[in-house]
Amino acid sequence: MPHAAFEPASSLLSRLAARGGASSMQRFCGDIAFPIDPLFRGERVAIEQLAQLAGCDAAALEWVSVRHLGKGHFRLRDEFASLQSFQRLRVRVCPECVRAEAPCAAESWRVPRRLQWKFSSIRSCPEHGCMLVTLPPEKFSKDARDFSAQLRKHYGWILDQPMIPAGHSPFEQYLTDRILKGRGDRWIDRLELNVVSRACEVLGLRIAEGPDASLAGHREADWMSFGASGYYVLKDGPAALSECLGAMAREEGVDGRFFGRVFGAWATWLKSRSLGDEFEPLRDVVRRHVFDHFSVRKGVLVLGVPSEGVASPNVREPFTLKGFAKRNAEDLVNRGLARRQADGTIVPQGFVTQRMLESYEREKKFFRAGGGAVGSAAAAIAPAPVGIDAAGGGHLSMSVVARRLRVTVETVGYLVVHGLLCGMKNSECYRRGATVVTAESMRGFRENFISLGEVSEVTKRPQGALSMKFRNADVALLAMPHDLSRIYWREDMGVYLATKR
Ligand SMILES: [Zn+2]
Repeated sequence: MPHAAFEPASSLLSRLAARGGASSMQRFCGDIAFPIDPLFRGERVAIEQLAQLAGCDAAALEWVSVRHLGKGHFRLRDEFASLQSFQRLRVRVCPECVRAEAPCAAESWRVPRRLQWKFSSIRSCPEHGCMLVTLPPEKFSKDARDFSAQLRKHYGWILDQPMIPAGHSPFEQYLTDRILKGRGDRWIDRLELNVVSRACEVLGLRIAEGPDASLAGHREADWMSFGASGYYVLKDGPAALSECLGAMAREEGVDGRFFGRVFGAWATWLKSRSLGDEFEPLRDVVRRHVFDHFSVRKGVLVLGVPSEGVASPNVREPFTLKGFAKRNAEDLVNRGLARRQADGTIVPQGFVTQRMLESYEREKKFFRAGGGAVGSAAAAIAPAPVGIDAAGGGHLSMSVVARRLRVTVETVGYLVVHGLLCGMKNSECYRRGATVVTAESMRGFRENFISLGEVSEVTKRPQGALSMKFRNADVALLAMPHDLSRIYWREDMGVYLATKR
């Protein structure tokens, strides 16, 4: 039996059983002694056995099969998903796909289930431009899992369903591509799947319905449009999210003094204790926005982290550049840390603190003293001989460096442009115009710096909690615009990495 690229293992097994005339998948597996439960848990051995039985490629089958790790934890390849991301006990299908692929109930086995139909946030079929329908519920989950038997049983009902036209939104398309093809390198791609899908929907709800809307009581079609508008913001990363949150505070009739009232359902949802650690990178951006834009009394919890009571920068007196910072004002503009006003004077950006300028000075003097392996950025971008690196270390793509340093690709770009990492345009080795980073300069960088992501990995503590701890301890950050990943001096981290708590 052919395996469609989007078909999970459980559907393939169900179709094999139905084509063979078995009354149910359970019975079929009993007859041929097939390990049905391991297959439903997504275990590799069972998937390989099924691939052999069906005569298809085991790797392709495993690519689209969800592993169940127990206690509501699921994995699809390196993607994390939760109970809420799936329709587990109800089967959803596109009625038009069923009509087109199965001429009658007895041949329902011809319709492969699409992996994307299982995800709660995907609600339409791009091929037919209509809403998916959810089959009537079953009493036992083992019956609901037998896809072909469900189609056979409800075939008439499915064909009777009115076709509800619905465009496939860029949000649904994004999720579908990610589920079927894998994830990319942007900030949104690094948020876990269950975080992205729900975050887009809840942010969209707040955008569309205002601060008083509640999380409950919306129709599927509403959630679909909420998801689309939330995705429109989140796809562009933390700066876009922060900008969107800033705009909420300026809305007509909103009490802009309290972040909880401004953000409404978005804040309520993010606060919820049922959300796991994988939500921390998102919470972290929102927290940072709150600490930067609202005056929060000392001790008040902002998404689980107590405020230090530091006044927000729009309350703080603007300060003028002095000493080292003043002498390097042009470079600060270049680095995105200062801006030139209409009268020609250069002032620090709103998020820049004296502490950050001290960090900038420390970095500049360190590199000037030859502490880093990196020369000037201009010299570094000269083409390198094909395949040979002067230092013998080879080249790494921007996305590989981002993954290894556990920072965003945008951050790597910034580090290269400003000479903290040595990059080169190597059109011979890589596709034309692609910037690559020398392995040697990455080693040098790592000797001196460590990202928040790396600290989190080593200490096994969530990023949000760590970043607040460091902020409260006044640990210096590498001076960069606030929408980039946070990077610390490795020498400052000794005590935190040693205790691992
Ligand atoms: Zn369809």
